[in-house]
Amino acid sequence: MLNATYEPLCVVADRRALVLVLSQKAHAVEQTDRVVRSERRVEPLPSVVRLVRYVRVPRRAAVPLTRRAVFARDGGRCVYCESPATSLDHVIPRSRGGLHVWENVVSACRRCNHVKADRSVSDLGWRMRHAPFQPVGPAWRILGSGRADPMWVPYLVDHAGGGAGHEAGLSAIEHLALPA
Ligand SMILES: [Zn+2]
Repeated sequence: MLNATYEPLCVVADRRALVLVLSQKAHAVEQTDRVVRSERRVEPLPSVVRLVRYVRVPRRAAVPLTRRAVFARDGGRCVYCESPATSLDHVIPRSRGGLHVWENVVSACRRCNHVKADRSVSDLGWRMRHAPFQPVGPAWRILGSGRADPMWVPYLVDHAGGGAGHEAGLSAIEHLALPA
């Protein structure tokens, strides 16, 4: 769902998007090839909707730290060995005072998680592809949901955020264009 200004806002369920369009609170910007049938008519399900009225959102609202969001930031790969990620890992283990924050949580594979256990990255001499960062920018409100639709790509590319997260943002957006 996009704001009236085209700024990405959040992911909503198909039905909710359709209700917004039918109640004229939003316009369908992109349609899926799926439809919803009722007794009287057939309604195409929208893929991207844009609100008619602008809603104010806190500019720096933090992206919730969820498994899906961390996987999206890290490209679905283990930050230590590039295998497909299956779990989250605390770089500094929680048992050693590591916090559950974006800067200390990464996606990892089962094997690395198991081998690493309660040790820190520096104990093991491991390297990470990039330092974990908190994703910032409107596109992450969408990317953090873990949902993907290639049709969303053009509406996200200009909202990937700045700084350390920009490259990761762009690559996560490109990822949406790939078949699941
Ligand atoms: Zn691994």
